[in-house]
Amino acid sequence: MTANISFIHDRQFVNNTTLIEGESQELVDVLQKIVQNAGALLDVQNCSVALLDATQTTLVTLAALQKQGQRLRQTRFQLNEGVAGWVAEHREALIINNVSLDQRFKRLGRTPVGSIICVPLIDKNSFIGTLTASSQEIDAFDEKKVRMLSIFAEQAVLAITNARRAEISQRQANQLETLMHLSRSITTSLEPDILYRTILSELRRLVPYDLSVVYLYREGAQELYSVAEWYSIPVDVSTEYEENKRDSGVKSVYVQRESFSLYDTHSVVALAAAHRHPMLHAPGQNGQDVTLAELATPFVSKGLLYGVLLLKRKQPFDSEELRLVRNLSTLAAAALENVALFQEMRTDQEQLHAILTSSSDGIALLGVNACFVEVNAAFGQVFGVEPQQVIGMECMELLGYAEEEEADYCRELCMVQQALNKEEALPYIEVDLQIQGVPRSLGLSITPIVSPEKTLSLLVARDVTSIRDAARMKANFLSMITHELRSPLNAINGYLDLTLEGIGGELNEQQREFMQRARAGSEHLYALIEDLLLASRADSGQLRLSREIIHLQDVIANAVEELELNARDQGITMVVEIAKDFPRLYADAVRLQQVLRNLISNALRFTEQGGQVTVSAWVEDRDALTMDSSDEDTRVIKLQVSDTGIGIVPEHQERIFERFYQVPDGSNGRSGQGLGLAIVKMIIELHNGSVTVESTPGRGSTFTCTLPCLLS
Ligand code: ADP
Repeated sequence: MTANISFIHDRQFVNNTTLIEGESQELVDVLQKIVQNAGALLDVQNCSVALLDATQTTLVTLAALQKQGQRLRQTRFQLNEGVAGWVAEHREALIINNVSLDQRFKRLGRTPVGSIICVPLIDKNSFIGTLTASSQEIDAFDEKKVRMLSIFAEQAVLAITNARRAEISQRQANQLETLMHLSRSITTSLEPDILYRTILSELRRLVPYDLSVVYLYREGAQELYSVAEWYSIPVDVSTEYEENKRDSGVKSVYVQRESFSLYDTHSVVALAAAHRHPMLHAPGQNGQDVTLAELATPFVSKGLLYGVLLLKRKQPFDSEELRLVRNLSTLAAAALENVALFQEMRTDQEQLHAILTSSSDGIALLGVNACFVEVNAAFGQVFGVEPQQVIGMECMELLGYAEEEEADYCRELCMVQQALNKEEALPYIEVDLQIQGVPRSLGLSITPIVSPEKTLSLLVARDVTSIRDAARMKANFLSMITHELRSPLNAINGYLDLTLEGIGGELNEQQREFMQRARAGSEHLYALIEDLLLASRADSGQLRLSREIIHLQDVIANAVEELELNARDQGITMVVEIAKDFPRLYADAVRLQQVLRNLISNALRFTEQGGQVTVSAWVEDRDALTMDSSDEDTRVIKLQVSDTGIGIVPEHQERIFERFYQVPDGSNGRSGQGLGLAIVKMIIELHNGSVTVESTPGRGSTFTCTLPCLLS
């Protein structure tokens, strides 16, 4: 089968001026006039004109002088036979004065013939046909008549070529119109099913066929599968149809799904797809069966293969038909590309819609002036409104924000408004709102979606009221419990102190030791309760700073004094580096002392005998990048505690500020609760500052607090 398949190149055009099948009525009329005039010129009753057909091997009589109402017999004769054959071969006129004496003459029909004259029709050196006249008499033609007929034949050739040119132009105009119509109808359809039907039905107006199929290409599986087909009921052939008899017309829904690999070398369709080139398969005999002519053209747009169009019929396809089908396939490929893009877009939209409707988070899209463009059902539920009611409304209006409101109350809402105005991202923020008169806490985040045409913002909202309430309840509960524990512990400490002082009587050595251990234990417990109380107060929003104008030198001196004895006992040197005229700060002295206490006691705990702990403070220009333009003072305080101790390995440095986090095996018998650094971070952040650590295992650690608390 593959032997019949060939590549087709556009250059292979048939000489259009030689077409016989389907010659136009205009040409037949011209030919009819030619025979009439030639008959009159020679004064004969029999005159005919024959033209070469497309195969260039057969002459077909297309016009003849005949009796009124008589139907023309389209006589066909091969180029190598008869009088016309001789004229075609020699390209010169021939007179046979007595046909009965000349072998070249073959009588056709019943009309008696005595003598005959035949001249070639030659168009620019190409033989295109013959003009023949005959008479019942012998010797009816002489040299003069030959010359007359030859001159007449030249005029006749001009008339024939003009008629043919006119016919070709007309046909091309019709095809162009059909292609334009087709281009309009296939490029306007975005529904795949309608597109396949349009391609097949429009194609029928260009090229006749018995069967056509649209195959699509599945890239992943590298296979082609049929999606639409057109059958016309075949009359006589072939076995290919018989199993599949069905009505004529397009089928696209219940197509017998046929698929095959792109690399199937027995299929014209696969070959056309694999080579991205049209393929022709001439009709032929395959054993008992008659196989049909096949024409397959790939749908290729911007180098991408979308599918293949296959046509089948009994007659072979010619190059002009191939060119037409190829043009149509190019148009169809562009249309298929549009359909694929549209389908992709539709799938994306459907997926997006599914995400929006099924999401339990409220999701909204904000457009110009931060007005709602689209919201999902969950968003409506968060705000207790119908989603449709929100469309077009300004976001800040829905959040119930008025600029004149108290700054403290609307700090978070201000941040939301700022993010929307500046089209910036707002990672996650919790805001307290009144929604339909009920106080609610919402978790909000804003993400700008930037596109060349417009900027949209994605707002995600979640009702966190119950989570927040639960966290507050937990913090309140913890705060209450720790508070309740503190009072009896105070009493225990007091009684232990009294006993140790000997108020209740002299203690022997052992009793004193027991009492001292109990006192150390209860002190440890007291410190833990203090830390827990602080953390729970911060969680429930009860922790407030009591700021005043302070001298940092004093705060440092107090903290160092508290722990000086411990340092001395451990053989560690304590160094303080701070200028005497250090500027005053506006900060909470008690809390800052707590920060220093925690940092210094950690430093002492993790430093070996002979080591050093340094507490230093200095003023520094703020990093330009982190500076907020609204802040007036460009300077910050750096408060640092560094030691020459065991250090912290990098993977733990990030986490040591988390609550209850302790470096595994890092305590080395130095017990703690993992709250000290969390409290340091909390207090520093309450002062709008930050804390960082730098450490090298085996060489020591440095904790640096940055505080923007200088008095301007
Ligand atoms: P703890 O009360 O357990 O010390 P912290 O929050 O104060 O809790 O410290 C967390 C962990 O960080 C400690 O368990 C310790 O492993 C490590 N760490 C803190 N300060 C230092 C330091 N100066 N040197 C080495 N490790 C330290």
